[in-house]
Amino acid sequence: MQAEIIKTPVTIQTINLASPFEPGIMKQPLQQAFANKRQSTRRNGKPIFNYHYNPDEEVDVFYEADQVWYKFSFVSGRSGYDNPIPVEQIPPTSAVAVMAQHTSPKNRPCPFCSAQKADSTIHEEILCYASLANNTHKDIFLMNVNEYAEDHMCMVEQGEQAQVLTQSRIKKALLYAKALGPDYEGLFNSAGAATVNHYHVPFCKKKSPVWRNLEEQRVTITNAQQINQIVHGELSKNWVRSRFFKGKDLDELCRQIYWEVKDLQQKNIIHNCKFIYQQDGSFVWLMSPRLNGYMTYVYHFLEPVGTPESGLVNTCGSIEIPGGDAIMFFELPNKLSAMQKQIMAQRFKKSLDKTCDRQWQPPCYKRYLDLTANTSIESINCD
Ligand SMILES: [Zn+2]
Repeated sequence: MQAEIIKTPVTIQTINLASPFEPGIMKQPLQQAFANKRQSTRRNGKPIFNYHYNPDEEVDVFYEADQVWYKFSFVSGRSGYDNPIPVEQIPPTSAVAVMAQHTSPKNRPCPFCSAQKADSTIHEEILCYASLANNTHKDIFLMNVNEYAEDHMCMVEQGEQAQVLTQSRIKKALLYAKALGPDYEGLFNSAGAATVNHYHVPFCKKKSPVWRNLEEQRVTITNAQQINQIVHGELSKNWVRSRFFKGKDLDELCRQIYWEVKDLQQKNIIHNCKFIYQQDGSFVWLMSPRLNGYMTYVYHFLEPVGTPESGLVNTCGSIEIPGGDAIMFFELPNKLSAMQKQIMAQRFKKSLDKTCDRQWQPPCYKRYLDLTANTSIESINCD
């Protein structure tokens, strides 16, 4: 007799954060939801995860020259583009404004729009709904079925929303970071860097080496200044210009972050952000303009030095700036030796250093100060 598979419908929880909430309030329900997903299968019987995050595939590399940590992940089991694509197609180096509309890659149905439909396969990937303002506007927390971090998920807005930051979206992202608690980090890739132009913000267990580098004071804040208790500055020793914002006054922090986000949007510069909520009640937001391509044909790094890079890319490495977190994936050889991983990591780092530039000038704060009333300033350096 064949065993009967009984599927118990799992209720999807809605977490309402409308009133003041304790930091980390979403952590337990989300981890429970992840645990349930690991046990359950799709309606067709297939597991929900395609690829499981494996910390053994990560290599922490300490660069003597910079005295900082980088992290390289070799996720050979993770799938990527279906077909090799020409190098010049990834990633576009501008076009934020052009791409600032809701689009899905290769004219496929948008996965995040599909997630909203109860009859879709992607609906099975929903961890929970969450709402900050009221119950009529719920955001969706989706698991990443190709996770490359622990508890890798995506906050997705309902409706056809473009991948563009606004001041209220920055605030919402930071509030969700607080609701997940200080063990988690969030990131945002603007249109032009994100694969799907439907507004989404990934979160995962804190893993970017930048947080460790900051804690150990291997990376410091240069050109620091303080406006209305918000600290601004730049990360030292990073290969791109990474802006740093820190403060406890959420509204003021978001106003000041958005001041620079708007500048990048207006200049049509793709940007990547990372952020956390900290134990002491402060928020940190990091932001880097993407002035160069950070995707490269990584398999090439196993070939002899001087071998020309292939024109087609189906084995890629990308760097999750400004965290110093490099992800190597797409059809990597299954068994890479520790030595090969070290070589690839070193050569990827060198290639980044070579292509990096620090051209983008953050907007001058004098203009910002002109526009704000009741401003308190400490040590302004704005020349
Ligand atoms: Zn969509």
